[in-house]
Amino acid sequence: MAAYPVSCTECGACCAAFRVSFHRSELSDGQCSGVPVAMAVFEVNNTMRMRGTDDASPRCIALQGTVGEAVRCGIYADRPSPCREFGALAVIGIYERACNRARAMHGLPALPVDD
Ligand code: SF4
Ligand code: SF4
Repeated sequence: MAAYPVSCTECGACCAAFRVSFHRSELSDGQCSGVPVAMAVFEVNNTMRMRGTDDASPRCIALQGTVGEAVRCGIYADRPSPCREFGALAVIGIYERACNRARAMHGLPALPVDD
């Protein structure tokens, strides 16, 4: 039985489950903050994608550690907006249904979600 709340640093499932797309304006040009160009791939029009998140077994290139044990985002301060918005309340133990979809992909137990 998992102890709650589960912190995102002992989960990380969403970083290895979903495609992460963002506007190219969130890329770093090498002088300002933002997603390093090398960690992104062109998607369509003005949209970029975190490298690795659309693979058959998705895992963001910036994710470090082991999902379900201990993880960290290697570009936390510069992560793109979808990463800032997803699971924003998980830090206080309020999870999203999508958290559990991601966790299920990794065989991790579901977290409590309000209906
Ligand atoms: S937001 Fe949800 S799925 Fe992502 S690391 Fe946190 S608890 Fe896990
Ligand atoms: S950029 Fe960081 S927070 Fe966003 S998916 Fe990758 S590892 Fe997760």
